[in-house]
Amino acid sequence: LQQQHKPELISKQRGAGQGQRRNVLKVIERMKKNREQQRQLQAKLKEKELQIMMRQGNPNWEFLNMINQYRSRIVFRPLQESDPVEDHQITVCIRKRPLNKSEFARQEVDVISVPSKDEIIVHQPKVKMDLEKFLENKRFKFDYVFDETCCNELVYKYTAKPLVQTIFEGGMATCFAYGQTGSGKTHTMGGDFRGKTQDCKKGIYAMVAEDVFKFLKSRKYKKLNLAVFASFFEIYDNDIFDLLANKAKVHILEDGDHQVNIVGLTEKVVDSVDEVIELIDRGNTARASGNTSANRNSSRSHAVFQVVLRTTGTDRIHGTFSLIDLADNARAVDMNPPNRQTKMEGAAINTSLIVLKECIRALERKDAHIPFGGSKITLVLRDSFIGEKCKTCMIGTISPGMASCEDSLNTLRYVDRVKEHRATYKQRT
Ligand code: ADP
Ligand code: MG
Repeated sequence: LQQQHKPELISKQRGAGQGQRRNVLKVIERMKKNREQQRQLQAKLKEKELQIMMRQGNPNWEFLNMINQYRSRIVFRPLQESDPVEDHQITVCIRKRPLNKSEFARQEVDVISVPSKDEIIVHQPKVKMDLEKFLENKRFKFDYVFDETCCNELVYKYTAKPLVQTIFEGGMATCFAYGQTGSGKTHTMGGDFRGKTQDCKKGIYAMVAEDVFKFLKSRKYKKLNLAVFASFFEIYDNDIFDLLANKAKVHILEDGDHQVNIVGLTEKVVDSVDEVIELIDRGNTARASGNTSANRNSSRSHAVFQVVLRTTGTDRIHGTFSLIDLADNARAVDMNPPNRQTKMEGAAINTSLIVLKECIRALERKDAHIPFGGSKITLVLRDSFIGEKCKTCMIGTISPGMASCEDSLNTLRYVDRVKEHRATYKQRT
């Protein structure tokens, strides 16, 4: 009897597998089509812009021409939807956003090229003493580089998605978005903007939640008997505010076992993706509105969305996924006029970003000493920097315009330095 049933079972499983494959292929096809449309739209806009610039005698026209000439010599091989996902403890990548409407209106020149899935070139415009114009082309390499045609889904596939398994295996996962104001951090993490409204279903926070529930129900992890909790807070200067409790101020405490606890932070039990999406929406709205302190706005704070797995019926943490929309890395000199408060904010942000970089580098070197005490964000993420089971991903976001050139270079240098072995590799070659 068993023998009679076996082939049927196998053919059913095969059928299910094929169905899944067909779905995956469909998604890949859709992403490809969307990217092709994006590519054509951007090319058309750029062509139109070049003509307008020439007609109006815009001085940047010459730079654009030089960049176009440079690009015509590149054989572009961008990331393909079917490219394999690599396994790294620390993944560093860059995402370039498209030029937006107001940048086109200002006739901003796109100075960033993405020749392949792991390379990016900044064409920095320069002027010689005798006023002759030239380009300094600076090339960087990362684990992945996403060009302006990549959607959040594709970015997710190569960045946070591979880390979902980490938390089910009892590890700590973190994913950071780092970059200047307006470069796409919140768009990537929190979700696509349509005008002023944000579709949080299309952000990395929600995509992680979706996969967490898939894993939870899978045969492999069902038996672990895990419950899912979510919290959402922001760190501004040295204070922590609960985004799920009207931005109530909460405090951080280190107990006898050096465990870091945020006392009074809302941690909601969640049973479905919809519940998580509701929380993300609530948190995003809270983040964008209201003032806890004078003059502050959301870009001067780090936002942290956490998904925590606990063994049901106990307090024991099985794994944590922290997703962080970091404060803007704007240079202090850009603040005009730089009053005392913005200067202090800038200094606090810079310190925390430097400490963060050092902590990730220490994780990779397996250092005994990790300087997580140097800032609130690294203190909160303390356990994410210790041990083999920690995985981290950093997404540097880049604005493509010429006016952002210096900021983009700063972002590229920062993300490049996060991964130590790349620096060593460069020194050797
Ligand atoms: P940040 O959080 O880094 O300050 P935002 O995420 O708020 O920047 O993005 C600024 C604007 O640019 C938003 O209107 C957003 O919709 C748009 N944007 C950012 N990244 C992309 C992208 N990859 N594709 C399309 N629009 C984007
Ligand atoms: Mg933002």
